[in-house]
Amino acid sequence: MIFDCAIIGAGPAGLNAALVLGRARRNIIVFDNGTNRNRVTQESHGFLTRDGIKPQDFKQIAHRELAKYPSVQLVKDTVVQVVKQVDHDQYAIVTSNNKYLTEKIILATGVQEIHPTIPALEQYYGISIHSCPYCDGWERRDQALIVLAEKEKGALHMAKLVYNWSTDLIVATNGYPMCPSMHKELANRNILVETDPIKKLHGENGHLQKVEFVSGLIIDRTGGFIVSEFYRSNPFLEQLGCQLKENGQVEMDALGRTSQKNIYAAGEYSQLSPSALILAAADGSNAAFAVNADITHERF
Ligand SMILES: Cc1cc2nc3c(=O)[nH]c(=O)nc-3n(C[C@H](O)[C@H](O)[C@H](O)COP(=O)(O)OP(=O)(O)OC[C@H]3O[C@@H](n4cnc5c(N)ncnc54)[C@H](O)[C@@H]3O)c2cc1C
Repeated sequence: MIFDCAIIGAGPAGLNAALVLGRARRNIIVFDNGTNRNRVTQESHGFLTRDGIKPQDFKQIAHRELAKYPSVQLVKDTVVQVVKQVDHDQYAIVTSNNKYLTEKIILATGVQEIHPTIPALEQYYGISIHSCPYCDGWERRDQALIVLAEKEKGALHMAKLVYNWSTDLIVATNGYPMCPSMHKELANRNILVETDPIKKLHGENGHLQKVEFVSGLIIDRTGGFIVSEFYRSNPFLEQLGCQLKENGQVEMDALGRTSQKNIYAAGEYSQLSPSALILAAADGSNAAFAVNADITHERF
C-alpha cells in the first residue's frame, strides 16, 4: 500500500494534521516515538477547553478521536530515514522495525532542548522549574522565583517576562558574566543577579526549596524558569534537500509547503523555536489543508 501522506511526529501538529486528513478520507500513517519535549510536565495550560490537561491525557483524547477515522493508522515506532524513490513520486519511510511507502510527507517531529548545565535540573524540570511563563507563570504567581540562564540576553528577556508573574525574582547565570547595564536594569527592579555557578538545587519530589551556589550562598526559592536552546534531533530536512532560512526556520509557504514538492512541515520542527500546543495544532491543520488541496488538484 502507498499512503497518501505520512505524518512523522504525533504531537499536536502531527495529530491535528491527521485529524483533518482522516476527515478528508485520505490514507494516512502517523509515527510517534514518545519523545515530545513536554512529556515531563504535569499539566499543560493555555489551550482553550483543555487548560490544565496532562500531556498523556491530551494524547489519549487525540488518539480516541482519530480512532473514529478508519483511514488513519498510528504507529509507535521511530522513523530513522526518509528516502526518495528513484523514478517514482514516492518516498520510503524507514523505521526501526519496518518500511512504508507514501506520496507526501508532513514533518512534525518537534524540537529538543539543551538546558543550562545545572546539576540535577532534570529532577525539577516540568514540576517546579519551567521553560515558558505563558504555560506555567500563573501557577507560580507571586512565588519566590529564580530565572536560570547562561546567556545574558536570554536572562534579561526571561527576567522581564517572569517579573509580570512575580516580583520576588533572582537571576542566576551559572558562572557566566552579565554586563553592568543589564545588571543595572534588573537592580532597578530589585532583582538580584547572581553570576556564581550553581552547586546544587535542594528540594523534594521535584519541588524546589533552595538554590545553593559554589560561593556557599543559599537562597530560598520555590520555583523558576530556565532559558534553553533548541535543536532538531531528526535530519529529515537535510535528507530531503529542503531549504532553510538563515535563522534555521524551514523555507515554506503559509500552509507549510517546503521547497521540495510533496514535503510539508508543521509545528516546532518547522520553526526551530518553542511554540505552544494550540499554535502547533493550528500549523498541523494548515499543512493538512495544503496536502489535501494538492492531492485534490493533482488527481481531479
Ligand atoms: C516542559 C514543557 C511544558 C510545556 N507546557 C506547555 C503548556 O502548558 N501549554 C502549551 O501550549 N505548550 C506547552 N509547551 C510547549 C508544547 O509542548 C509545544 O509547543 C508543542 O508540543 C509542540 O508541538 P509539536 O507537534 O510541534 O511537537 P511535539 O509535541 O514535540 O511532538 C513531536 C512528535 O514527534 C515525535 N517524534 C520525534 N522524532 C520522531 C521520530 N524520529 N520518529 C517518530 N516520531 C518522532 C515525538 O514522539 C512527538 O510525538 C511545553 C513544553 C515543555 C517542554
